[in-house]
Amino acid sequence: MSAYNVVSIAGSDPSGGAGIQADLKSFSAHGVFGMTVVTALTAQSTRGVTGVHGVPASFVTDQMDTLFSDATVHAVKVGMLSTSEVTEAVAAAVDRYELPNLVVDPVMVAKSGDRLLESSAIEALRTELLPRADLITPNLPEAADLLGEAEATDLKQMRDQAERLLELGPRRVLIKGGHLPGEESVDLLVDGVTEPVEFRAGRVDTRNTHGTGCTLSSSIAALLPQRPDTVTAVADAKEYLTRALVRAGEIDAGGGQGPVHH
Ligand code: PLP
Repeated sequence: MSAYNVVSIAGSDPSGGAGIQADLKSFSAHGVFGMTVVTALTAQSTRGVTGVHGVPASFVTDQMDTLFSDATVHAVKVGMLSTSEVTEAVAAAVDRYELPNLVVDPVMVAKSGDRLLESSAIEALRTELLPRADLITPNLPEAADLLGEAEATDLKQMRDQAERLLELGPRRVLIKGGHLPGEESVDLLVDGVTEPVEFRAGRVDTRNTHGTGCTLSSSIAALLPQRPDTVTAVADAKEYLTRALVRAGEIDAGGGQGPVHH
């Protein structure tokens, strides 16, 4: 029996590379018991998203009330939220059930360019959910959208934006610098109290990067209850993601941008 229950509140990706499908694979790989609250269905393959069918906020709440009034939850990953109503419903449930180890991946647009969060929902994400998060994991375009600023183009701007994101209320920010040029990808963890921590990884030469953000955030959520601190959980999650990228080529899931290998 696994000692920890970890929940993914996210969208479905039928192609299995991102969303709740990726999260469940991460959870299993890290030895926790995975549970899910589905916020949206997507019609999707390795080539992109062809449709989104949102779950009404009231039914997202039904899923959460039914699950959280029964199961003990040790960590939560939040991904695709689709609308402001769903975002507000999730924020309310975080308070109602005092959900611990809340990792919010502020998913906005898929790598294929398709929107996964309505632009009108960014405000709800900013004001309702981010202040309740233990950790948020934006990439550079997401950080820029949340701050209403241009995207960072170097490490100094990235650090400044991470610090400004802290002002929105999350306990910690892991800003992901994969979009910056350079031989290494650098992520930065800030908490406003201790010195920022850099995580560096060599770039993996693969086009199979579908679901990398989902895999990292769900791995962190799975590891937080199992590691002594957030720095160690993030370091181990990054190592897992790098291994999953290295092995991505072993999967043939379609002709577009393939998934990482859990
Ligand atoms: N589909 C769903 C349901 C997602 O939650 C996400 C990302 O969070 C994606 C697709 C996008 O994945 P990627 O941008 O890695 O291709």
